[in-house]
Parts: sequence; structure tokens; C-alpha cells
Amino acid sequence: MKSITKLVVLFLLPVAFSHCSYSQTTIAKKEKTMDKNPVYNRNTADTVNLTEDEWKKILPAEVYYIARQKGTERPGTSKFEDFKEKGTYYCAACGNALFKSDTKFESGCGWPSFYQPISKTSIIYTPDNTHGMERTEVQCGRCKGHLGHVFEDGPPPTGLRYCINGVVLDFEKAAEAEKKYNEKKNN
Ligand SMILES: [Zn+2]
Repeated sequence: MKSITKLVVLFLLPVAFSHCSYSQTTIAKKEKTMDKNPVYNRNTADTVNLTEDEWKKILPAEVYYIARQKGTERPGTSKFEDFKEKGTYYCAACGNALFKSDTKFESGCGWPSFYQPISKTSIIYTPDNTHGMERTEVQCGRCKGHLGHVFEDGPPPTGLRYCINGVVLDFEKAAEAEKKYNEKKNN
């Protein structure tokens, strides 16, 4: 009997410990890289369907207000309005790639402006007749979060002006993305 107990302890203890340390590091990593948002992912286009309550739990209040409640940030308040770094803009709610910096232009309208999204599927277009105006709302193609509106007074080649709330944008510098890609390649 004694030897059986010993055997059980010998075999089960390492299993229990390894499991414990594994789950702890996984959680720590998740919190760090995804900022407590489990659906944030820059490497997939899979659509995200969460309830408004679930969104409220994982998004910072200001992102929730714009993305889920169709709010608008005050004009001239976005750090991205006059931002000129080269790189990619992602949806702050889900990580979907939305715009490249080379399609950004100075519209003077008070919000970050682009003339073209990264791909046809990165944006969803919805008629918006609120506030007595006929506008086209633009939403994230992955999480359907509200981003802003698109107007037909933009520069060539599209003639479009995507007027986007900076709060719902995440930016990554081109050099950083390139560095990560090269690190991956060398590993
Ligand atoms: Zn999104």
C-alpha cells in the first residue's frame, strides 16, 4: 500500500506543478499582450460577435463609448490627427488592420482622415440618417465597432475621406512590424 501511495505521489506531483506553472504564465502573458481583451488579434480577420455587456467588460471606457455606442470624440483632440509616422492603423477594439499611413492626409476636419482602407473587407459601410444628415457610417469589418464616417470630398485617387475617431485606432510603426517579421523569419 505504501509503495502505491509513493508511486502516485511521484507521478502526480510533477503533473500538478507543471500544469500550475503553465496556466499562470499563460494568463500573465495574455494580460500583458492583449490588455485584458481576449478578442484583440492583429493576425486574423475572423469576425467577432460579443454582447454589449461583454464588450463593456473588456474595452477601455472611451473605446467602448465610440466603438459600441457610436460616440464621437471632440474634434482636434486625437493624437493621430497630425501624426505622420509610417505604419499601420488597427481597430483598437479588436486589432483588425484598417488603414496604412500612406493613405492618411490632412483634411483639416478635426479627425484623423484617410482616403482608402487596407482592404475591401476591413470596413463595413452602413447608411446613417441620424442628426438630420445623410451620411455613411464606417464600421470595423471584424468587430462591427463604429469608427466614423466616409464622405465624398477626399483627395485622389479615391475621392473619399474616411473621417475616423482616433480613440478607436491603434498604431504600429512600420519599422517595428518589419523588425518583428524579421525576428520571426530568423527563428
Ligand atoms: Zn474591430
